[in-house]
Amino acid sequence: MIAAHTYKGQTLAVFGLGRTGVTAALSLVKGGATVWAWDDNEAARNAAKKTGVTIKDLNSADWTVCDALVLSPGVPDTLPERHWTAAKAIEANVPIICDIEIFAREVAARPENDRPKIIAITGTNGKSTTTSLIGHILKACGKDAQIGGNIGRGVLDLDKMHAGTHYVIELSSYQLERTYSLRANAAIFLNLSPDHLERHGDMKGYETAKRRVFDNQTSEDAIIIGVDSEPTKRIYSEVTAQNGRRIYPVSVKKCLGRGASVMKGKLYCNISHKGVEVCDLSKAKALEGLHNHQNAAVAFAAVQSLGLDLKSIGEAILSFPGLAHRMETIGSVGPVRFVNDSKATNADAAKQALKSYGNIFWVAGGQAKSGGIEPLADLFENVTHAYLIGEAAPEFHKTLTKKKVKHKVSGELEKAVLCATRDAMASDKPNPIVLLSPACASFDQFKSFETRGDAFRDYAQRIIDLYDQEKTRMTAA
Ligand code: ADP
Repeated sequence: MIAAHTYKGQTLAVFGLGRTGVTAALSLVKGGATVWAWDDNEAARNAAKKTGVTIKDLNSADWTVCDALVLSPGVPDTLPERHWTAAKAIEANVPIICDIEIFAREVAARPENDRPKIIAITGTNGKSTTTSLIGHILKACGKDAQIGGNIGRGVLDLDKMHAGTHYVIELSSYQLERTYSLRANAAIFLNLSPDHLERHGDMKGYETAKRRVFDNQTSEDAIIIGVDSEPTKRIYSEVTAQNGRRIYPVSVKKCLGRGASVMKGKLYCNISHKGVEVCDLSKAKALEGLHNHQNAAVAFAAVQSLGLDLKSIGEAILSFPGLAHRMETIGSVGPVRFVNDSKATNADAAKQALKSYGNIFWVAGGQAKSGGIEPLADLFENVTHAYLIGEAAPEFHKTLTKKKVKHKVSGELEKAVLCATRDAMASDKPNPIVLLSPACASFDQFKSFETRGDAFRDYAQRIIDLYDQEKTRMTAA
């Protein structure tokens, strides 16, 4: 854990006692601050108390002696409705921050030559994949890489900092909104499409929050921007006009004269070297699809800006094992491959998998998002047969009937996997894929997208094991 010394002697209110809130409270106390911790949920308060955190009812606290409110990123301070702690803080002129700000101050307080390196990743889609990939590359190249933020461990839960540490931090717009002091040595802005608008008001508010990832950077630092989405292309032009930093555009759609590009599956560097091939992404088993090529290209641009050599980076990209639940290959029975894309909780995310494969036996459904699967209609030609589960099944049935896509309502995931496997094995199509890419939230049938993906993996694995056993018996006979 990182002790937060920069708030020594100060009094901070911490609201939201999930894992990150509790860690922030403990880190502040360790650094010498007084902490008032609170949560509206009694169970969360009791759990926090057991870790040694001091619970104080913020309803009756004297906010005039409070130096900052550490507000859980998920709790709104403005829209859709201001939380009561935020109202009290604003009234008493108390700044609202999050754990990333505490971490950033801790870094900034160190002498310049003793600071760790910070690689910050934001964007609407691909943050977790890119963050893990960068962590993987750095580790493969012998660096001390710590991965956290909006993925895995909270930043203050990461190992103590030293000059050689590389903190690879995934940042959501909610976190960035409450961060003021972060200076990223390399900041990545992947892409931007409408999301979280109820919280940010509109696209402008969402973009403004995300652009904070570039704040405090100096001429030594690097900006990496995916220029394949219209908003990020404009942002690239705007930051280039401001200049003062090393700015690297990244595209998977066109070959850039300067920056990093992916053409016909090959990643090219036009930064330190001219037109050099870094690696052949078609050999990166865990980075299938153009969207993952974008993730690989921004990851490359970021780590090369830190001085790593191209050959080692290229090799590390190819050995990335991938992240669970994001187009994760489970295994195969004969020609049929099982792919778990449970993280695709909306149509936009499912689009990536439907784009990446042909001959898909598609397991979809769950708790529907607005618009359903209508936006995927252009990709239905890649779907051989669909198997619908959960609450969304009747709505998806209507869409697929209208679009003349073969499908059946399976209801439960296990039944869907069995039917999809049976049909895929009987089909004469080359390389069929049994794909779970639900385009829906999981909460109608599962606790989370992770438990849904784990269940799919178990069902698929059972089929694979049975198939392998039979094959072995037949070979032995
Ligand atoms: P995030 O952390 O931003 O949610 P993930 O890396 O967890 O992103 O990927 C979640 C889903 O988003 C993936 O299953 C995939 O469908 C989609 N995705 C991943 N990378 C990209 C990208 N660069 N552009 C568009 N969509 C992407």
